[in-house]
Amino acid sequence: MPRDPTPRLRAQSPRFGGLDTPDGYLFELTGGSLCLDLANTLDERLRERPRELLRDYKSACDWGLQAGALSPPEYRALVRRSKALPAEAEKALHRLRKGRETVFETFSAIARGKAVPAAALAALDVLIRTAASRRGLSGGTGPLAWEWRRSDTPDLDRPLWAAVLSAMDLVTSDTVRRVRQCEGAGCAWLFIDSSKNGSRRWCDMSVCGNRAKARRFRARSGALEALELTGPLQ
Ligand SMILES: [Zn+2]
Repeated sequence: MPRDPTPRLRAQSPRFGGLDTPDGYLFELTGGSLCLDLANTLDERLRERPRELLRDYKSACDWGLQAGALSPPEYRALVRRSKALPAEAEKALHRLRKGRETVFETFSAIARGKAVPAAALAALDVLIRTAASRRGLSGGTGPLAWEWRRSDTPDLDRPLWAAVLSAMDLVTSDTVRRVRQCEGAGCAWLFIDSSKNGSRRWCDMSVCGNRAKARRFRARSGALEALELTGPLQ
């Protein structure tokens, strides 16, 4: 029996993400929403050299699978298609990264209490209308459901459309008031603060929270050292 090529990464806890595994990169999914998890695929965004986690189309599919944007069959179909059409896959990857920046600019502005820049708003509007056109209503008896329109070939932009539709839901919901931007130095990851008193400051306490604690500790011990070097005050 051929080995199932779908990475078995999805079942693992997102808290253990942020590392390379033999099956590919294991993403940290701490955003609380698919669109925010996409925004967070550019790591250390505010530093001089941000870290691109969507390194190639395959890693974009890995993200899609782990974040729940793609089902395992969709994942397999997209990876197969990207291998058959590498130039097309590269263009789709470029569109995904560009869409990610629109999502980031939108929710970052909201999180900081600023107006969404007009260019981001216009770009998101176009993305949402395009993504929505990829779905159709289906149903029999009972409630109807949105389903991706069937086509003979898998849509290489499917991870983007899934994230954009998540942004469409989030941006007009009350939950958007709880979107925060991590205060960690250089981080700027976005997340939904679901803490009771709305006081979450870090994308992940074990990552940025601890870094900030260590920095405060170093700053304190630096001040102590300086005091010792100058000697006791006369
Ligand atoms: Zn952070």
